[in-house]
Amino acid sequence: MNIQTKPNDLAAFWMPFSANRQFKKAPRLFVEAKGVHYITDDGRRVLDGTSGLWCVNAGHCRPKIVEAIRKQAETLDFAGTFQMGHTRAFELANRLTAIAPKGFEHVFFTNSGSESVETALKMAIAYHRAKGNAAKVRLIGRERGYHGVNFGGTSVGGIGGNRKMFGTLVGGVDHLRHTHDLSRNAYARGEPEHGAELADELERIVALHDASTIAAVIVEPVACSTGVLIPPKGYLKRLEAICRKHDILLIADEVITAFGRLGTPFAADYFDISPDLITTAKAITNGTIPMGAVFVKSHIHDAFMNGPEWMIDFFHGYTYSGHPMACAASIGTLDTFADEGLLTRAAELAPYWEERMHALKGLPHVIDIRNIGLIGAVEFEPDPAQPGKRAFDRFVQAFEQGLLVRQTGDIIALSPPLIITKDEIDQLFDIFAKVLKTAN
Ligand code: PMP
Repeated sequence: MNIQTKPNDLAAFWMPFSANRQFKKAPRLFVEAKGVHYITDDGRRVLDGTSGLWCVNAGHCRPKIVEAIRKQAETLDFAGTFQMGHTRAFELANRLTAIAPKGFEHVFFTNSGSESVETALKMAIAYHRAKGNAAKVRLIGRERGYHGVNFGGTSVGGIGGNRKMFGTLVGGVDHLRHTHDLSRNAYARGEPEHGAELADELERIVALHDASTIAAVIVEPVACSTGVLIPPKGYLKRLEAICRKHDILLIADEVITAFGRLGTPFAADYFDISPDLITTAKAITNGTIPMGAVFVKSHIHDAFMNGPEWMIDFFHGYTYSGHPMACAASIGTLDTFADEGLLTRAAELAPYWEERMHALKGLPHVIDIRNIGLIGAVEFEPDPAQPGKRAFDRFVQAFEQGLLVRQTGDIIALSPPLIITKDEIDQLFDIFAKVLKTAN
């Protein structure tokens, strides 16, 4: 047996959502992280302008979280939650429902955002069945929506590039139009003025299929992965009202927006909407251990508890649902959020953040700037010959200058850890502005 390995050979790891051939010629590798910084394998400090992948809301390697994980590893490494349990999972569920928007009294644990989405979609269909409405099975997503990569999430998702390799996907899915409209809303600060009426598309879909066939609508309150598409004023409330009218469940996919990103614990608080299910992951453990959770309103949960005899309960779950290590990490995370007021800190920083974001206006090729909470995006004029290249070049140059940003298409998104200081916000924008001024 050949047990020799080459630690620096990058071939074996087939990286997700990456242009592997390109990356491996010029890799970007981290070896450490602390607070708002990463350290690269060649010893450079890089300011984390994206909270990892939108998940490290409390900053990196936080002591309470590290300690909680260490202790848990020594005490109870694994216990399942099928027909048995462990105390940490119940403790965490109670802690989570205490900070959730009103009416969310139950939590179903998963291991990722994608799994939370699958769980919520299946729960919605099974809920209607439990209520005797077995024909309510259709699912409605949105163009430019991102709901993870499993079959259901890819199907309700609205990204052509993510769908086209995978055949027909799940049937019975429709998509609302996205709300991104630079002709009316360019350079909006916070929620754009125009486009609430796009929610009425749901009425068109209801007219086409009949409400008796539709189970749920799933939307990201802010569609982050496809370039920070902020809902127009009133859009989400209008969508909610149409869902209510037709007994269609509203699923808010808050995998990114939950846990303080907008300056409120959840985006449902920010937009004053009351969905039926909320999907979460990422910052629930500050990115440290994979975990997701679906927040469930009582009327959904109770429909299963009081459902027909054959149904017994919700036949769904994962070996690692409520994994003790993830629960401990999440409890350490919630303690850190509470100690430092992080669930509302973005609200304090948002005005400063907004000013610095919009000061980038006028730099070469910039065609839009948008912001909400501690999220921002800069959109570049597309080069038709090379879609996405402008933003990608700026992402690479920012990295070389010591700043991590996130590129998607012709857009660069920013979402630093919520512990960032104003001085560090200045550093972030100083580097970013320099890159935008000098890039081709
Ligand atoms: N839903 C949304 C809104 C997301 O932003 C993401 C991840 N960016 C997911 C689902 C999928 O999460 P994961 O990558 O943890 O499966």
